[in-house]
Amino acid sequence: MKFIDEFRDGELARGLAAAIGQAARGGRDYHFMEFCGGHTHAIARYGVSDLLPDNVRLIHGPGCPVCVLPIGRIDMAIRLAVDVGVTLCSYGDPLRVPASGGLSLFKAKARLGSGRGASGDIRMLYSAADALALAQQQPDRQVVFFAIGFETTTPPTALLIKQARALALTNFSVLCCHVLTPSAIASILESPEVRRWGTVPLDGFIGPAHVSTIIGTRPYEFFAEEYRKPVVIAGFEPLDVMHAILMLIEQVNSGRAQVENEFSRAVSRDGNRKAQQLVSEVFELRRSFAWRGLGELPYSALRIRREFAAFDAERRFAVAYQPVDDHPACECGAVLRGVKRPQECRIFGSVCTPENPVGSCMVSSEGACAAHYTFGRFADAAVAP
Ligand code: SF4
Repeated sequence: MKFIDEFRDGELARGLAAAIGQAARGGRDYHFMEFCGGHTHAIARYGVSDLLPDNVRLIHGPGCPVCVLPIGRIDMAIRLAVDVGVTLCSYGDPLRVPASGGLSLFKAKARLGSGRGASGDIRMLYSAADALALAQQQPDRQVVFFAIGFETTTPPTALLIKQARALALTNFSVLCCHVLTPSAIASILESPEVRRWGTVPLDGFIGPAHVSTIIGTRPYEFFAEEYRKPVVIAGFEPLDVMHAILMLIEQVNSGRAQVENEFSRAVSRDGNRKAQQLVSEVFELRRSFAWRGLGELPYSALRIRREFAAFDAERRFAVAYQPVDDHPACECGAVLRGVKRPQECRIFGSVCTPENPVGSCMVSSEGACAAHYTFGRFADAAVAP
């Protein structure tokens, strides 16, 4: 398939691996963070790390949208369904993220189905548009869409809200938990582990693919200029990632810190202006938002503008965010900041598995722990006699 097969070609991969081996200079280490969960998945799935020399290391970043949702946000969605009695619509992965009191949206759904809860309902959807269709089909029920994700998923949510207003729907709203990539990158660069202690050495970033189709490459220029960190935007195929690593090594070797675009078949400097305009019409910056692992970050997430307040579930149902501590054994915070690798969590692969996730990083296929577990042969080890 065009743009897929040639980016998974084994022969080309061997050639790129050789070029990386030649470019990486002995006597120094290279540490690159892949920000996005899509890259984490590709690296684990295709064994990209195994093709790199020992002195080129990849660090997983906080770019998995399910992973960075704090427990308190999942609790809000559960409260809407269980206490308020709405039909809560969500993509599949957030349903499995552990919440307070041993619950998850999935377990809350089972409880509601058994008749032990209020009149609420929880539905899994494949598309945001399905939530709007459900609201039209069930005018006597309040339908809430649990909107999560980075800049890639924000435009469809904005469109949904505009459509709901055009249809004059009074039974549809959105629990908005959309977050912003540049804020998370800034948080990593400003973290004490990177800035003060140097315990997370960082020589550059593999920049997100899908997010960058929307925001373009321009927002990363600040990190290259101010922090002197090269950024290479890369597609999600294994050769995209390897090519980006080679480009980063070449930048480091020549003392450059620039934004380069390996994914030029889909990403431009300015991104998708139409989508950006749609998003700014419907959303505005939140003053502060709590991220799992990164804490409260100023202006790092979006909320629905006052003009669209009728479609804001937080306002309509007066549900407020309440912070909740992670499970005491969970190291998701450290994994999301690049401080620890998944295997360094002492419950990785034993108590915490994709079938029984204790932390959010084991839920989504883009989560670092799930990717390591699934493609690191831990699954085989778990069933070995
Ligand atoms: S193994 Fe589980 S508990 Fe540990 S960091 Fe990963 S997701 Fe969190």
